[in-house]
Amino acid sequence: MKAIVNGKVISQGRILTDHALVFDQQIRAICPLPELNSWSASELIDAQGLFVAPGFIDIHIHGCGGYDTMDATTGALRAMGQCLAEHGVTAFLPTTMSAPWEKIRQVVGVVRRIAGENGLTLLQKTGEDTQVATRVLGVHLEGPFLNSEFKGAQAAEHLTLPDFALLTDYLDIIRIITLAPELPGTDALLDQLAAYPQIVPAIGHSGASFEATQWAIEGGVRHATHLFNAMSRLHHRQPGVVGAVLASGICAELIADNLHVHPGLYDLLLKTQGLERLILVSDAMRAAGLSDGEYELGGQTVRVQSGAARLADGTLAGSVLTLDKAVANFRQATGCGLAEAIGLVTRNPAKLLGLGHRIGDLRVGMEADIVVLDEGCNIVEVFVRGLGGTLLRCPAHKKVTAGRLHLA
Ligand SMILES: [Zn+2]
Repeated sequence: MKAIVNGKVISQGRILTDHALVFDQQIRAICPLPELNSWSASELIDAQGLFVAPGFIDIHIHGCGGYDTMDATTGALRAMGQCLAEHGVTAFLPTTMSAPWEKIRQVVGVVRRIAGENGLTLLQKTGEDTQVATRVLGVHLEGPFLNSEFKGAQAAEHLTLPDFALLTDYLDIIRIITLAPELPGTDALLDQLAAYPQIVPAIGHSGASFEATQWAIEGGVRHATHLFNAMSRLHHRQPGVVGAVLASGICAELIADNLHVHPGLYDLLLKTQGLERLILVSDAMRAAGLSDGEYELGGQTVRVQSGAARLADGTLAGSVLTLDKAVANFRQATGCGLAEAIGLVTRNPAKLLGLGHRIGDLRVGMEADIVVLDEGCNIVEVFVRGLGGTLLRCPAHKKVTAGRLHLA
């Protein structure tokens, strides 16, 4: 049993001071300090006044640290998991790009193999240390049932019409499927997906009208993929996908890198979506965490310069964003408190995936996915299902150290 003391514990949207967080694989107690004695904690971790929050969940991420979901190897997913842990992410959905269906099948098979291992916790030995890596919760299929006119950085030649038969072997591992509901065959697909509540149908890369979007939402679409990006725009006489989503009450993703959406709109989004229906995502590609240069995304060359990843024609192609930075950007633009902003990368994604009882908050009985961070959202320590707590070796974070006290 471990206990974190001297931290400001973010639990159920509140900040608790003078409380200890007691955990093994699960959260066992969040108790006032004097009650800590009744728990036989063998290790005390001194958070030195920093914040103690639930681990972040990224439901839309293609790659990072030089690796990509479409590499279709367990090694790539493990490497992504390690990179993500350094940014406070304790669970993620590797996200596919449109590709020949055989390739997507291969990728989903690899995700299933990783997700099924070891209760999803990935541990890797690096010399003396055991480094914790982020858990894989399943796969986000971004395509291939997308509108070619709103393809963004997806390869048009691999887009196809909705077909439930393509998905039937993978219903256990698909968590989100992004689709353009104006494509013929969507109604039948949504009807069939209704029998699988663990799969979230999401609207994205879509040119649907306001009315068609409303129809799709009535038919089962529960989420909007990177709101504003690669979808029909908000016009006062043709409100499109954006207008219908904002008016609907469904959940929406925001890529808060200040490039995909002007930060001046974040506050408006917060007013329309509230704290409960907005999810910050990275939509990161393999260059996230690396320097500027040329990279690959979905078989296309992407140039990364000054934090923007673009195809040769200038189209934004994923991001190099990480969720810790997304939270910081969002707070800077909106003035939102840390505890509130943390909910957009913890509670909300967990609830969308139907996992709100297990992850996404610090409550007794939930899994011990924990981050220690400062006010600027710099990540200091990460625990995945209670494992970890070795100071992460991310140079940017070296200034801040959470000292650890070991009891004899
Ligand atoms: Zn994406």
